[in-house]
Amino acid sequence: ERSDGRERLVSGAKVVAQALKTQDVNYMFGIVGIPVTEIALAAQEVGIRYIGMRNEQAACYAASAVGYLTGRPGVCLVVSGPGLIHALGGMANANMNCWPLIVIGGSSERSQETMGAFQEFPQAVRSSIYGRPGACYVDIPADFVNLQVNVNAIRYMECCMPPPVSMAESSAVCMAASVIRNAKQPLLVIGKGAAYARAEESIRKLVEQCKLPFLPTPMGKGVIPDNHPNCVGAARSRALQFADVIVLFGARLNWILHFGLPPRYQPDVKFIQVDICAEELGNNVRPAVTLLGDINAVTKQELAFKKSLPMNYYTVFYHIQEQLPRDCFVVSEGANTMDIGRTVLQNYLPRHRLDAGTFGTMGVGLGFAIASALVAKDRNPGQQVICVEGDSAFGFSGMEVETICRYNLPIILLVVNNNGIYQGFDTDTWKEMLKFGDATTVAPPMCLLPHSHYEHVMIAFGGKGYFVQTPEELQKSLRQSLADTTKPSLINIMIEPQATRKAQDFHWLTRSNM
Ligand code: ADP
Ligand code: MG
Repeated sequence: ERSDGRERLVSGAKVVAQALKTQDVNYMFGIVGIPVTEIALAAQEVGIRYIGMRNEQAACYAASAVGYLTGRPGVCLVVSGPGLIHALGGMANANMNCWPLIVIGGSSERSQETMGAFQEFPQAVRSSIYGRPGACYVDIPADFVNLQVNVNAIRYMECCMPPPVSMAESSAVCMAASVIRNAKQPLLVIGKGAAYARAEESIRKLVEQCKLPFLPTPMGKGVIPDNHPNCVGAARSRALQFADVIVLFGARLNWILHFGLPPRYQPDVKFIQVDICAEELGNNVRPAVTLLGDINAVTKQELAFKKSLPMNYYTVFYHIQEQLPRDCFVVSEGANTMDIGRTVLQNYLPRHRLDAGTFGTMGVGLGFAIASALVAKDRNPGQQVICVEGDSAFGFSGMEVETICRYNLPIILLVVNNNGIYQGFDTDTWKEMLKFGDATTVAPPMCLLPHSHYEHVMIAFGGKGYFVQTPEELQKSLRQSLADTTKPSLINIMIEPQATRKAQDFHWLTRSNM
């Protein structure tokens, strides 16, 4: 800075340096020459670290890596002509890696009418870090560098705000959760986009809470430590080849991931893509779900969603089993409800489990429960009867609830409700479907009316009814029902309409529906 008596003057180089510093740019790599030497000197003066390199290409690689590591772009300072041409390799590499970078080139003199060029820095920094990160080039004419400017005429733009955080559309978040939940062999692929997004904490939570295996890409390594028990890095090829659902967290389906195509993947593998760049979605494959947004924010959305998610069979039976008295009668019927229930609900006494039996009959449950309750009352007062019904199975003899209430038998009816026989639809899908025609023509025959309040059947006759959607509600209502043996109760347990059983080890088992 100097003064010509009337005004304080500052060089163009100093203005450039100060503009960068104001944008929180802290590292500059380069090779000086005419006319950029003054910019390097000015940078050091305002507190930007300057690292002189031996080739602009390496300088540019270094500056882009600083951008990846810190989230603020590094600067690569080059002279015009060969300097800029050498830097092109680094710019291309930064763009391919989606890393922020600012290249400043000094070009020949030009007549300048405005100071507009100095306004380029806020824009350059912004466009290098907003959206998909990448390289930006700012050209500084030689006459700018040594221009003397009145200090009062300069206005530095405030440091641009951190990139706005965008979240995915909520219906896509919901769909992704459902696809992951129903996956038999899910796999998370963690790329350098997840690393850049600093999403390590939320992704780790997702991995651990949902017990998901993960595979890091080369630079995605370390987002979750390689020695984490869910890391399948050692079996990379197999993990990719046998996954039926793959969630891509900031990793592109390029050559590193074999383009997402067979034979390295199942031909019908479902991809869920999480990326900040809309243009990337649908590259090479047709994804099952696309989540456009910041990885950290989207992962948190999935975590929040998981809490309110419909339960599946295993969650439901796990919570029932926890509270079942050892000596209770277990009556059960339904398709998945009976099959999966049998594997989780324990029996400790002979003749204490009654189900659809040899004939595979639906509608036997309430009669069996009534009989069990009468026998228990006569022989072993206080012994409880739990009747676990699918929503379809319950329908076959639902009116026997009146009988149960008339004789005041304290049976606990659990209706595991998936809105259908085998599988049903959620309310939204059901409504959407009815836009296309009458239910008799468009509704799949296995659908039952979604969100049916079967607990009101019990309430209608004076018993207790509960409508539950979360594990907490299930635990609480079951505890109350077991504690109050003066009245029968019905707990209507809403589960994921598309929930199914886990993958069978024996392929021939999956063919049976019963
Ligand atoms: P890898 O080489 O590890 O597979 P890629 O470079 O192919 O990773 O993919 C990184 C992806 O991450 C890019 O598509 C980029 O758009 C995306 N990305 C970068 N930052 C974010 C972010 N904050 N949120 C979401 N996606 C991001
Ligand atoms: Mg059902």
